[in-house]
Amino acid sequence: MVYPYELPSLPYNYDALEPYIDTRTMQFHHDKHQKGYVTKLNDALEKWPEGQKAPLLDLLTDPEIIPKHLRRAIVNNGGGTWIHTMFWRGMETGGGGEPTGELAEAIKKSFGSFESFKEQFTAQASAFFGSGWTWLVVKPEGTLHIMAAPGHDLPQKDGFKPILVLDVWEHAYYLKFQNRRPEYIKNWWHVVNWSYVTELFLKG
Ligand code: MN
Repeated sequence: MVYPYELPSLPYNYDALEPYIDTRTMQFHHDKHQKGYVTKLNDALEKWPEGQKAPLLDLLTDPEIIPKHLRRAIVNNGGGTWIHTMFWRGMETGGGGEPTGELAEAIKKSFGSFESFKEQFTAQASAFFGSGWTWLVVKPEGTLHIMAAPGHDLPQKDGFKPILVLDVWEHAYYLKFQNRRPEYIKNWWHVVNWSYVTELFLKG
C-alpha cells in the first residue's frame, strides 16, 4: 500500500461469510467504514509530505515520529485502514474449526487447550467496554497472549506480533445482532481463517 491509499478490495464476495456474518454488514463495514478511514488517512497525510513516503505500518508502529497535531488522525484512520484489511483476511467461507500443527501446539502450551483459548478470547471480547479490537498476539519470548485494545492502536506498538483479530466496534455487528455482541462472536468463530492465522504465526 502506498499514498494516496485506496480502499483494498475484500478478498471474497460480500455474501461469502453468510449466514454467520451477513452481506449487509459486510457492505457497510467495508464500503462505508473502512472507506471512511482510508479517506481520512489521505486527508491527514496530505498535510505531511514526509509521511506520505513512509510505510503505513512504520507510522502505526512508532506513532512518535508523526507530527503531534496529525498523530491522532493518522493513528486512528491509518489503524482503521490497516486492521480492517487484516480482519477481512482472517475470515473465509467454510472457515472455523481448529488450527493444526505448530499453531495448535502453541495455543495448547499458552492456554492449556484450544477450548480454553476460545473461552478466554470470547470472554475478553465480550466484556471489552466500548469500541476496540481483541487480538491474539505473539509475545517476543514466543508465548501467545490475548489482548483487548481500545480504538485502533496496534499491538506492534508494544512489540507484539498480531496473528488474529476481532472487530468489536458496534458497527461490526449492530445491523444483524444489535446489542448482542456475544452472539456475533459465537458466529465469527465459524468463519475464522486458520490458514491465514497460521501463516502470520509462522512468519518471522
Ligand atoms: Mn470495523
